Amino acid sequence: MEVIKDLPEVFEEFAEQRKNSFLAVKQLKEKGIPIVGAYCTYFPQEIAMAMGAATVGLCSTSDETIPVAERDLPKNLCPLIKSSYGFAITDKCPFFYFSDVVVGETTCDGKKKMYEYMSEFKDVFIMELPNSQREESLKLWKSEIIRFKEYLEKKFDVEITEDQIREAIKVNNAGRRSLKRLYEVMRHDPAPIKGHDLFKVLYGSTFKFDRSAIPAEVDALVDKIEKEYAEGVMQEKKPRILVTGCPIGGATEKVIKAIEENGGIVVTYESCSGAKSIDKLVDEENPDVYDALAQRYLEIGCSVMTPNPNRLELLGRLMDEYQVDGVIEMLLQACHTYGVESRGIRKFVNEERGIPYMSVETDYSQADIGQLNTRIAAFIEML
Ligand code: SF4
Ligand code: SF4
Repeated sequence: MEVIKDLPEVFEEFAEQRKNSFLAVKQLKEKGIPIVGAYCTYFPQEIAMAMGAATVGLCSTSDETIPVAERDLPKNLCPLIKSSYGFAITDKCPFFYFSDVVVGETTCDGKKKMYEYMSEFKDVFIMELPNSQREESLKLWKSEIIRFKEYLEKKFDVEITEDQIREAIKVNNAGRRSLKRLYEVMRHDPAPIKGHDLFKVLYGSTFKFDRSAIPAEVDALVDKIEKEYAEGVMQEKKPRILVTGCPIGGATEKVIKAIEENGGIVVTYESCSGAKSIDKLVDEENPDVYDALAQRYLEIGCSVMTPNPNRLELLGRLMDEYQVDGVIEMLLQACHTYGVESRGIRKFVNEERGIPYMSVETDYSQADIGQLNTRIAAFIEML
């Protein structure tokens, strides 16, 4: 597929994708297509896709509904959880509203306890995600994936076959390959595009309901970026920053802006908004589809795992591949797992790899933008 539009236009289209999909989700619903919402990268989308359902990420990204959420939840809780609960209970998120079922995993304590309240007004299916990656954990996670499949079969009165799951695996893998190809354009130095524009495509693409359409669209975009780069269209050479930590989106894009407005360029994201959710494929050769899915998803290096060696593996690999000059970790207030893990990340990045590291703690308000700018500008100047 030929992309005729200019790159800025394409980036803005992806930036608007979430909003544009509000209408799309309503249309899907009118056609009788089941909608399965989820809050986490561990959610094995392929099982829902196999029965023809549309899947959608429900993590909320604005502080609009936090005051309402604080009537039920403690103030000192991660803004992502409060905001998501707030949008759910006020019925302000169309994706939540139209979801036939919401899938939650036992990840961090705040989220899993919040799901208990959410299940008072919504159909919530909880998957028990083990918090370690041992052999026994894999068995549990595989059985949870099968339990989820059986739940969907019963709820929607359908049969989900292994061939359908295999097909969904292929579709999602193809999307992952293209998105990986996209973020790999940032290996170029100077970078071809802004890190914020890369983010818009990565984030926006998660709201495309037709997952099979992703490769053609993203591949055409990559081809265009590479062609223009070869013709000399590129960013100024700037300190190359890796962003890690909690998921970014909406309000917290202020961190990306602060980096790029203060002399840096984000070349890669080691978080659920980037490589963490795309890097690994599901093994298409494994004859046991449940085994293949369980392995791929359980390997995700989120801080809810203990120990969490896979995060360091991905982080180290990205630091090398993207010739990173500095690492900035974004921590959401009251996120205990990422907050506690940040000491280990600092040690790995700074002491073991000799790369400057800084962490910024923030929430969904815009009150700290001045402070973020000052701290991040000082960090980048030092690089
Ligand atoms: S950071 Fe961890 S808990 Fe949060 S969405 Fe990613 S994998 Fe799930
Ligand atoms: S950012 Fe941290 S506290 Fe918030 S939902 Fe994710 S893991 Fe839980």
